Amino acid sequence: MTITFYNFKELHTEEFRQEAKQRISDIIDNNSFIEGEYNDLFEKEFAQMQQAEHCLLTANGTDAIEIALQAYDIGHGDKVGIPGISFFATAEAVITRGACPIFIDIDPETGLMDPESLKRVMEQHNLKAIIPVHIYGLPAPIEQLEKICNPSIKIIEDGAQAQGTILKSGPVGSTNNLITFSFYPTKNLSAFGDAGCILANDNGMAEKIKSIRNHGRSPNGHALSGKNSRCDHMQAAVLHLKLRNLKELNQKRKQIAGWYHESLKNLEIGIVPQKYLEYSSWHLYPVRLFNRDQKYALQYFLKTKDIPSSLFYERSLPEEKPLLDIEGETKNAKTFAANTLCLPMNPFLNEEDVNTVAQAIKEFLANR
Ligand SMILES: *Cc1c(COP(=O)(O)O)cnc(C)c1O
Repeated sequence: MTITFYNFKELHTEEFRQEAKQRISDIIDNNSFIEGEYNDLFEKEFAQMQQAEHCLLTANGTDAIEIALQAYDIGHGDKVGIPGISFFATAEAVITRGACPIFIDIDPETGLMDPESLKRVMEQHNLKAIIPVHIYGLPAPIEQLEKICNPSIKIIEDGAQAQGTILKSGPVGSTNNLITFSFYPTKNLSAFGDAGCILANDNGMAEKIKSIRNHGRSPNGHALSGKNSRCDHMQAAVLHLKLRNLKELNQKRKQIAGWYHESLKNLEIGIVPQKYLEYSSWHLYPVRLFNRDQKYALQYFLKTKDIPSSLFYERSLPEEKPLLDIEGETKNAKTFAANTLCLPMNPFLNEEDVNTVAQAIKEFLANR
């Protein structure tokens, strides 16, 4: 069996395809293209699953961050702390708002925002908000960050990779922050295109977000200038259908991460600490090498054995061209991006697949 990085073939079973096609066909017959019944059903059920009061679907995960920032009235010139390890969208949403990202450094073992770095950066910069990212599905230290931020600095949790992540308070969504998700096709919960959402526990904020995503509409005309970021009905119908087995698929990811952990833990390769095993959504399985060259060498070696791997992230955010002038702390993020490689991770890998990958890594490390 070939090992694949993602596995859409097994994710989209024949039975699922039939049901999805039926739903899409009904939507065409009913001309209910935007914000239909499946939007309501998904929002209700996903909020429940994540222990949040409200779920507001959006057009994608980047818009979700941008809208959350607007809901907190963050805009022109405001400083927003972001980690140096994330997908580019986390920084981009801040910039699109006219606000200014400031880098907070990361934990060198996980890529998660480091509370100690936040404390230091706060002495230099008047932050209006921070966006901790549950990167790879690992839970960011929200409780510690909240203690440092309270009550003046707003927190937006970027949960794009965290459908299934557990925090101290419960599932991602159970805090009093705004939490954003992406349902891009490769995420743990995925649409047939672009979609995203925001979770909120405050009624007023939920109403404001509903208005922002729909051109600032209110019952009496336009209350503010928002944007068009509604989620279309077909995507909502697919998402709602996929909610059914999200828990089961995340459970499988956890089991696979456990197998990886067991077979790699005594090798000279950096793995995520054991204490995260139970709490991550295991969107990705990152390992750390000694340096960039060794990382590329391992990737090449795996490729010769038909084992795919991925560079998340090839560069840290502070090394991306549009962000070169951004201030803050970046040292650990740069090293982390240089050394990190993501191994195959999807719910359909079996123990033999994991052994094959682990054996290849052992062979690589023995010969270096
Ligand atoms: C995927 C992702 C996003 C952006 O989501 P889109 O739906 O592609 O706009 C934002 N942040 C992180 C961490 C992501 O992984």
